[in-house]
Amino acid sequence: MPDPAITYRLTPVDPEAHLYEVVCAVAAPDPAGQRLALPAWIPGSYLIRDFARHVVSISAQSGGKELRLAKLDKHTWQAPPLAAGAALSVCMRVYAFDLSVRGAYLDRQRAFCNGSSVFLRVVGQEETPCRLDLAPPAGAAYAAWQVATALQPAHAAPGAAAPWGFGAYQAANYAELIDHPVEMGEFSRFEFSAGGVPHAVALSGCRDCDTARLSADLARICASQQQLFGAPAPFNRYLFLINAVDGGYGGLEHRASTALICARSDLPYQGMGEINAGYRSFLGLASHEYFHAWNVKRMKPAAFMPYDLTRENHTELLWFFEGFTSYYDDLTLLRAGLISADDWLSISAGNIDRVHSVPGRRVQSLAEASFDAWSKFYRQDENSANALVSYYTKGALFALALDLRLRAADATASLDQLMRLLWQRFGDEKTAVDEAAIIDAAEEISGLRLAAFFRQGVHGTADLPLARLLKPFGVRLRQQPGSVLSMLGVRIETKGDEVRLANVYSGSAAERAGLAAGDLLIALDGLRLTPAGLETALRRRRAGDTITIHAFRRDELFSCPLTLAEIAHDSHRLEIEASANRRRAAWLGSAWG
Ligand code: ZN
Repeated sequence: MPDPAITYRLTPVDPEAHLYEVVCAVAAPDPAGQRLALPAWIPGSYLIRDFARHVVSISAQSGGKELRLAKLDKHTWQAPPLAAGAALSVCMRVYAFDLSVRGAYLDRQRAFCNGSSVFLRVVGQEETPCRLDLAPPAGAAYAAWQVATALQPAHAAPGAAAPWGFGAYQAANYAELIDHPVEMGEFSRFEFSAGGVPHAVALSGCRDCDTARLSADLARICASQQQLFGAPAPFNRYLFLINAVDGGYGGLEHRASTALICARSDLPYQGMGEINAGYRSFLGLASHEYFHAWNVKRMKPAAFMPYDLTRENHTELLWFFEGFTSYYDDLTLLRAGLISADDWLSISAGNIDRVHSVPGRRVQSLAEASFDAWSKFYRQDENSANALVSYYTKGALFALALDLRLRAADATASLDQLMRLLWQRFGDEKTAVDEAAIIDAAEEISGLRLAAFFRQGVHGTADLPLARLLKPFGVRLRQQPGSVLSMLGVRIETKGDEVRLANVYSGSAAERAGLAAGDLLIALDGLRLTPAGLETALRRRRAGDTITIHAFRRDELFSCPLTLAEIAHDSHRLEIEASANRRRAAWLGSAWG
C-alpha cells in the first residue's frame, strides 16, 4: 500500500525534558509554498491557548535537503516553493508538561496528548486522510508501555497497531486526527459493553480502584444515554481516558472518547459501600462528557461547522450544548439508579444556590454568557461574580424549566423527546442547530407557543420561575437564610487564619463600605479576625448594625464603618410532597412518584 498523502510520526523522545518529536510528512505539498499551522484552541474548551507556544524547535526538509521555514504568525509556518512532485517533511519538538485534559503531558510515568497540541494542520489539505505512527520512548524502562486511543488502527498499513499497541493508526481527515486524544504508559485497562457497544477504560494513577464497580456504574450511565437518543449509538467503540491525581477535576469531550482528570480519592475502592460525594461527582463528570458525544460533537452550532482553529468561534448556544448537557449529567445518575431522587433534588437545589448567589445573573443573559465564553467565562477574575452567569449552571436550570414546562403541557412531551427529535434532525452533522430550530421542535412536541419562554430564559436576566413550574409536579422549592456572610455581601478566601475577600458583590454592604476584592480583613470592632471568628461575630449582630472593619489593601492599612445587611434568603431546598403525583413519577421515575 502506498503511503497516504500525509503521515505523522509521534515519539515521546525525551521524557525527562518533556519533549515529543513530531514528524509530519506531506507527499504533495503546495508547490507555491506549503503552509502548516497548529491550532490556537482545542474544541470543547473555549479559550485561545496558542499551542504553538510550546514548539521548541521546527525544521523542514525535502529530498534530503534542509529547507528554511518562514514563520508567518504566532502559529503558522510556510515552506519555500518546491519542484512539482517533491515531498515535504517537517520535524518539531514540542514541550509537554500540562497535566490538564486540554494539552499534552510527558514524563517517565506517562504520556498524554491531544492532537491539537502536536499535529500540524497541512493548510489546504485538511480533508486528506492521514496516518499516525506512534512509537514508545527508547529504552527498556518503557517496554511495558501501551497505547489507549479511539483512533482506528491502520489495518491495511505495514506496522498496523494491535489493540492497545504502538504502531500505525489512521484518520479520515485532520479534524478526526485531533479529536482522539492518546494516552501512553502503564495504565490499567478494562472493558465493558453498554447497549451492545464495546466500551473501554484506560486508568492512570490509581492502583486500588474497584474497576468492576466502576465498569458496572459507567455501563448503566452509557446505556441510559444511548436509550435516550435511540439506537444506534453514533460510535462503534467508546473510550474513557481517566487520569487520577492527588487533586483535580475536569473533562473534555471527543467524538468517541473522553479525557477525564480526577482525584484518586474520587474513584471507588473495594468495599466502599454507598456512593460518596467524590465518586458521585466523578460519575457526573463522566456522564457529562459522554452526553456530549451526541450534543456538541455531532449536533453542533453553525460556528463549529467546521471549527475555525485559528481564532475564537462565537456562538450564543452554549446554554444548550453545555447547560442541557449539565442537566442530563446528574439526571442520568438518577435514571441509572445510582442516586436517589432526594440526592438529585439536593444537587439541583445546589445549582439553584450557585446561580442565585451571584449578582452577575442580573446583568448577563445565557445567550451573552455563551457568546462571551472566550473572554469572560474562561477568563474569570474578581469581578466575574458581578458580571457573568454560568451557561452551565443557569443553562441546566433553563433545561429543568423547559422540561417541566413541556411535561406540564402534555403527558407525552418532555425534554427527552425534544433531544431525540433534535438528534433525528441534526445528528447527521449536515445542518447546524440554532435557537429557532430548538424552539420549533419544542413547540412541535408540546403544542405550546414558546418564543416568549425562550426569550425570557435565554435572552433575559430575570430569575426563572422554577417554584411555579415545579408545583404541578408536587415538588416544593423552599428558600431559606443562606450564609451569614451575606450580611457583608462577600466571598472569603481563607488561607490559614487569613480572612481575605475573594469577591465583593455588587450593591453589597461591603461595597458600600469601600471594601474591595483582595482586601485582607484584620479586625472587626477592634478585635482580631479569623475566618471562624468573622462568622461568630456576624451571628451576634443584626441587620442595620454598624461595625468597624480594619483591613489592609496591599500594604496600606485602613478602617471603615460598615452597616450590615439582612441575611439573604439564597439557600434553596427542593422537597417532594407526600402525596402521589403522576407527573412526578413520569419525570423522576416511578419510585419517586
Ligand atoms: Zn461540557
